[in-house]
Amino acid sequence: MLDVEKIRSDFPILNQKIYGQNLVYLDNAATTQKPAAVISKIGEIYNKYNSNIHRSVSKLGAICTEEYENARNTVCEYINAKSSRETVFTSGTTAAINLLAFSFGEKFVNQGDEIIVCESEHHSNIVPWQMLCERKKAVLKMLPFNDRGDLQEELLDELFTDRTRLLCIAQANNVLGAVNPLDRIIKKAHEKSVYVLVDGAQGIQHLKTDVTAMDCDFYVFSGHKIYAPAGIGILYGKESLLEQLPPWQGGGDMVKTVSFDKTVYADLPLKFEAGTANYVGAIGLAEALKYLNVIKLDNIHAYERKLTAYALKRISEIQGVKIYGTSENKIGIASFLIENVHHSDTGEILDKMGIAVRTGHMCANPTINHYGITGLVRASWTFYNTENEIDILCEGIEKAKKILL
Ligand code: PMP
Repeated sequence: MLDVEKIRSDFPILNQKIYGQNLVYLDNAATTQKPAAVISKIGEIYNKYNSNIHRSVSKLGAICTEEYENARNTVCEYINAKSSRETVFTSGTTAAINLLAFSFGEKFVNQGDEIIVCESEHHSNIVPWQMLCERKKAVLKMLPFNDRGDLQEELLDELFTDRTRLLCIAQANNVLGAVNPLDRIIKKAHEKSVYVLVDGAQGIQHLKTDVTAMDCDFYVFSGHKIYAPAGIGILYGKESLLEQLPPWQGGGDMVKTVSFDKTVYADLPLKFEAGTANYVGAIGLAEALKYLNVIKLDNIHAYERKLTAYALKRISEIQGVKIYGTSENKIGIASFLIENVHHSDTGEILDKMGIAVRTGHMCANPTINHYGITGLVRASWTFYNTENEIDILCEGIEKAKKILL
């Protein structure tokens, strides 16, 4: 099992007081904190070898480029991509999905074709597809979830037609916490020749992720949700598919030669990396993954599963509190409301007690609308959180009830 006290000391930000109380950081689904190893790696880059990658002939440029490409290999190994050609650095999940919505859309989507998204997706995995469908006069279809938060996967048989090109689905949901049954759904989609994009923004940090075994066609995630810096993310795609897609943005680094007669694009993955990449973020991401490899994902998962069971039990026992999302297989998320209390009032009171949570629609209006409410309070935890912090959250909710009701 994990030595959580030791792990907490790896995350300097956790050791501080907010409004005179120990910080209880339970907003990990929004962004995770960074271990000292990542913070010092960023310092090392700027202190020792900062230089533009793939361009500079200098020694510094060579070191920085090597670190950047090694970072790509680290990511590849972490998600078990078959080759570094399948792993594109982007600025995050949102950028990766927008890249795909353009490039996949240009290649594979025509008037009357269909894209399916799930009702429980984050706006990042809905809006780019709506924009594509508007542009191409294609049809956006929706796979609903039931009140527990589980996708109604039996409806897929009706939804798939011979015009369906792509299914967009989260690995785990950012409001309800449900882990989606990707194995079954991807198999079903492929039987109908439908490609699958998996949004791993809430999955990569909690679940063992093997894109090759999963057999998804595309997989995306953000570094900042997995203990790495903000502004870096990954688009994984099967090489045979990425090869067929046109580039999204043009500029430096994504070309072999440019002339006014003809421009020849770079090979994968650089074809999709126009402009100076966020090499600091990429190197920081690799450092975060190396840190996790030392702690070992299996240990992290076992600890998080136990903490999740504890937290869901404790919160659901509070009178007058309702948890939204009661799927059997959940990541560390509890989105809840105190009966007759506005979500932002609860959030503000918890904040004054040093407890950081998220409130509102959490960039998932359709999920919130499903329940006919205006927003939720979301507590989300990870392997550096403790049962004691969950107890403090529960005391905070009780105090909020006393103040607000
Ligand atoms: N998808 C999901 C499921 C998310 O939780 C998030 C972040 N809240 C995103 C996509 C978007 O990630 P980013 O803002 O890092 O691009």
